[in-house]
Amino acid sequence: MNQETLKKYAHTLLKYGVNLQKDQTLVISVDVENKDFAVIVTEEAYGLGAKEVVLNWRCSPIARQRLLHAKESVLERPANWIPEFYKQYIDDKAAFLSLISANPKALEGIPTNRISLQSRNLNKALSFYHTAIMNSSVTWCVASVPTVLWADLLGYEGTDEEKIEQLWATLLKLCRIEGVEPKDTYRHHMAKLRHRCEALNKLDLKALRYTCKNGTDLLLELPEGHIWLGGEESSKDGTIFNANIPTEEVFSAPQYNGVNGIVYSTKPLIYQGNTISDFSFTFKEGKIVDYTAKEGYEVLKELIETDEGSHYLGEVALVDHFSPISQSNHIFYETLFDENASCHLAIGASYPTCLKNSDGLSEEELKERGLNYSLTHVDFMIGDEHMNIKGYTRDGQEVDIMIDGRLQV
Ligand code: ZN
Ligand code: ZN
Repeated sequence: MNQETLKKYAHTLLKYGVNLQKDQTLVISVDVENKDFAVIVTEEAYGLGAKEVVLNWRCSPIARQRLLHAKESVLERPANWIPEFYKQYIDDKAAFLSLISANPKALEGIPTNRISLQSRNLNKALSFYHTAIMNSSVTWCVASVPTVLWADLLGYEGTDEEKIEQLWATLLKLCRIEGVEPKDTYRHHMAKLRHRCEALNKLDLKALRYTCKNGTDLLLELPEGHIWLGGEESSKDGTIFNANIPTEEVFSAPQYNGVNGIVYSTKPLIYQGNTISDFSFTFKEGKIVDYTAKEGYEVLKELIETDEGSHYLGEVALVDHFSPISQSNHIFYETLFDENASCHLAIGASYPTCLKNSDGLSEEELKERGLNYSLTHVDFMIGDEHMNIKGYTRDGQEVDIMIDGRLQV
C-alpha cells in the first residue's frame, strides 16, 4: 500500500480513533511483524504534537513458547512492572492504540489451564486498566493491520507482498478510509450511527425478543436508564473518540438478571488463541445454565468459569446484516471485524457508560441498577439474514427492530 494512504489511515486512527491531543502520551500495542506501520503511526503522532510515543511490542510465537514452557509460578504472578507500566500511563492520561491482526490458532494445543492461569491473574493485576477502558476514563482505539497469516485465512493468493496488499485494500475499504462511495465515508457513517442511537434511546425499550431460523429464541430485558452508544463517544473529560475502527454496531447493557431463553452462535469465536464454533447458551434469569459447542468446548468452559460475572451478559449490540463487513462474505477470525458483521452479545462486564448517571457508582451500585461486572468481556456473534428482533417499550408498544437481518431503526 502506498505511503500516502497508510499515513491517511494512521492519521484517522490518531485523530478520530484515540483523538490524540497535543502534549499527550500515546501508547501503541502492536506485533513486531507490523513494525513498519508502527513507525508511520509514531511519525504521525509526533506530527500531531505527542508528548511521547511508547511501544508495547507483542510477538505471538514468543508468547506461545512462554505459555508452553515457562514456570507455572510466573504465569500465576505477573511481574510487578506490568501493572506499573499501565498505571504510569493511565495516571498520565495517555491515549491507548491497539493494532491487531487475526491469529485464530496462536495458542492452539496449549493446555487451557495454563492459558487461563495466566489470563486470570493478568486480568486481576490489570483490573484498574480494564476499568479505565470500560468507563472511558482514557481514550482508546482498537484497529487492524494486515499479516500474511491473516491474508492466507481469507484465501488471498500470490506473493506475500501481493497478499498483504490485497488485505490492506480490504481493511481500508471496510474502515471506510479508501475505495468508498462519497455518501459512505467515515464521517457519514459516524453520523448514521449517531442517528440510530438517538432513535433507539427515544424508544426507551424495556426488552428485546430475538428469534431466528437456527432456533434462537431469547427475551432480553434492558435496565431502566440504559443508553445506546455507537460510533463516536465521549471520554470522562469530554474528548470525542472512537474505540473501534471499523465499527458498525450500536450497543447497550442488558439487565444482567433479565435474560431468558436460548441463543445459537452464527460465527466462530476466537478466544485466547483458540477457536470455539457452533455453540449455544441457555439462560435463566440472566445466568448461563447450559451451553454446548461442537468445537472448543473446553475453552468455552474456561471462559464461562472465569468468575461469577462471566455466567451473565454484559453487552447487547445491534448490527445490520447488510453492513459492508457482512457483505464481504468473509469470516475474519478476529472479533473486531466479525462482531461488526453480526448482531452480538458479550459475556462478562458491561460498559458503565451505557447507563444514565452512572459516573462514580461502585460495582455493587451498578449491579443494583442492572449492570453486570466481571474480569472478562467477550463478544460472540448471533446474527444472520434470518434474525428478527422485536422491541417492547416501557409504555407497552411493540416495535420492529430487525426484520430478516435488516435493522428498522
Ligand atoms: Zn460489541
Ligand atoms: Zn464487546
